[in-house]
Amino acid sequence: MKQTYLESELFCIHCLDETVHKITYINDQITKVECEECHSVLELRVDLMKEFFRESYNRIATKPSRITKEYKEDLSHFLLKLPIRIMTKPYRVAKDINGVRNIIRDYK
Ligand SMILES: [Zn+2]
Repeated sequence: MKQTYLESELFCIHCLDETVHKITYINDQITKVECEECHSVLELRVDLMKEFFRESYNRIATKPSRITKEYKEDLSHFLLKLPIRIMTKPYRVAKDINGVRNIIRDYK
């Protein structure tokens, strides 16, 4: 299980401008989107145990090279569901590999 951060320019409904947002993933699930200017946060609950089992399955079933592509596709898919106008310009992806325990602690 890994936590990944993606920084992207999105339209913030509080700043009324395009600002840098930090998007947090657990595996390929978006769990949090935070505006770096006003720090308004959109949190999405994920079922960590479900993620854990799904990951165990995916580790066997998928290739690592597909991950970046999947992040982009998931992000586009997710952003389409938001009731705001957004522009995505991902320019930095940082990976943070944590143990399952750390991630669970952060989301309690
Ligand atoms: Zn903002």
